[in-house]
Amino acid sequence: MAISIKITKTPQSRIGDCDFNNIPFGTIFSDHMFMVDYEDGEWHNAQILPYGPLSLSPSTFALHYGQAIFEGMKAFKTAEGEAQLFRPHDNWERLNLSARRMAMAEIPEELFMSGLKALVDLDRDWIPTKQGSSLYLRPYMFATDEFVGVRPAKHFKLIIFSCPVNAYYPKPIRVIVEEKYVRAFDGGVGNAKAAGNYGISMLPTAEANKKGFDQIIWTDGVSHKYIEESGTMNVFFAMGKKIITPALDGTILAGITRDSCIKLLREKGYEVEERKISIDEIVEAHQNGLLTDAFGSGTAAIIAKIAAFNYKGVEYTLPNPEEREVSNWLYNTLYSIQTGATPTSFNWIDKV
Ligand SMILES: *Cc1c(COP(=O)(O)O)cnc(C)c1O
Repeated sequence: MAISIKITKTPQSRIGDCDFNNIPFGTIFSDHMFMVDYEDGEWHNAQILPYGPLSLSPSTFALHYGQAIFEGMKAFKTAEGEAQLFRPHDNWERLNLSARRMAMAEIPEELFMSGLKALVDLDRDWIPTKQGSSLYLRPYMFATDEFVGVRPAKHFKLIIFSCPVNAYYPKPIRVIVEEKYVRAFDGGVGNAKAAGNYGISMLPTAEANKKGFDQIIWTDGVSHKYIEESGTMNVFFAMGKKIITPALDGTILAGITRDSCIKLLREKGYEVEERKISIDEIVEAHQNGLLTDAFGSGTAAIIAKIAAFNYKGVEYTLPNPEEREVSNWLYNTLYSIQTGATPTSFNWIDKV
């Protein structure tokens, strides 16, 4: 099946207005977007058009019932000036996993990849080349039925747009262990990239910010004793050559960066355990001087070092971020693979 995409180019590129040395995260959008609509059981009208406002009915289904999912991924420029994507098939697979959980239409691989690549190809000059930067891609899908009444929607719109970004978290983060609010329960939607998962995190995060913390460490919804993840990132803790991270038990998001970290660490000879991790275990490791590193992993930040964590009002400060063996190595290795500076034996790179 050949995918035909109707392309309407912008009459006037906005790229001259973009200061690539100073891009506030997520505020500058490239010239074009990809859009495709689902109706009568099929995807129709694949097109690329100038990035711009949508016209939606006030009764648009997703706006009241929350059938909305998204992805986050990146395109990079190699030193030779080639454009490449990092693990895009994994994002496609996860988008469909989210779609199934939210009773939304799945998108065929060829349609997703063709739209994605055509968009990155057309806007390739928007991929920044400064150290730490990339073109962030945001695929998302939402229900467009004009309908009031609760039943799964029948119409969906998938859009992909992009924003050039510099390094996301300039500084190591201070986090607080959350013991009041819950992000996800067994049988819920914690492992889907559902828009609502972020909606419910805004108040807890704002409260943590007010107390001076950058992010929350979510805990399990039953006992608040086990670590889940942090904001938009999965979390890792290092005790010398042993690295631990919470297992994918259905309530946390299966991060592609998480998976990349695990594979790279194992290849390098680290012992990585995916299992339940209690906060008490981390506190004890800290008190015994065994906790050498802690960090979050996610597409936006790649690796965000945790400078300190707060649990029950006690602040636990981790070793100097500059001297962190694991997180520094992972960040440099991943970014270097993503930009093509270091070859990888994993099948992670897709040229555009
Ligand atoms: C997207 C996301 C992550 C990170 O996933 P990556 O594929 O590594 O970007 C982690 N946690 C949550 C809740 C997320 O939504």
